[in-house]
Amino acid sequence: MNYPVNEVFETIQGEGAFTGVPALFVRLQGCPVGCSWCDTKQTWDVLVENKVSPEQVIAVDGTIGRWANHDGMSLIAAFSRKKYTAKHVVITGGEPCLYDLTELTNQLIGSGYSVQIETSGTFEVLCHQDAWVTVSPKINMKGGYKVLSQALTRANEIKHPIATDKHIEELDDLLKDIDVEGKTICLQPISQKPRATALAMKVCIERNWRLSIQMHKYLDID
Ligand code: SF4
Repeated sequence: MNYPVNEVFETIQGEGAFTGVPALFVRLQGCPVGCSWCDTKQTWDVLVENKVSPEQVIAVDGTIGRWANHDGMSLIAAFSRKKYTAKHVVITGGEPCLYDLTELTNQLIGSGYSVQIETSGTFEVLCHQDAWVTVSPKINMKGGYKVLSQALTRANEIKHPIATDKHIEELDDLLKDIDVEGKTICLQPISQKPRATALAMKVCIERNWRLSIQMHKYLDID
């Protein structure tokens, strides 16, 4: 199965449970969720006129919103051509769960990679059972999609950006019918604001949750 890929790059995972782990980011094109503060709006539309060759997508960054079809094996071949050494693949977007990720995650995991999926939780998560699923729930966004209990139930990690008590209440409401036993729950202060960080730290300590500080923003790297 082919997936529309916007960009592929190697860096260090900057947030959540895998903070500090060298990672190959595979950004898929397409997202109808409509977050007003989205910093990857170039991934929203999968326009035919923006389709390029698989080699072009691998060669340069994806800020202009062009995309190319890749499957798992062509991505693995590209990792090898680029001499990437990371063994952890992060499938992000866009909204990667617009697509059935079973074949892609099967191919990557079958080839020795660990796989993490970063999703808004608004589409059903279909993937290999060993893929680590990080849901960063997008609540009441312009696109009108609801966060699905299937996605929250499948999640290994729930990572929620917070600035005020309202965001904690939102998360509590979302999780009230979900069994969170064994899940990693991370609070991520919005925009590195000191008040948001203090609130996140307080709630993490009270509930034995985890603080996610978006290390890459402190380091000013992608
Ligand atoms: Fe942007 Fe992600 Fe929201 Fe889609 S779900 S609009 S890619 S932040």
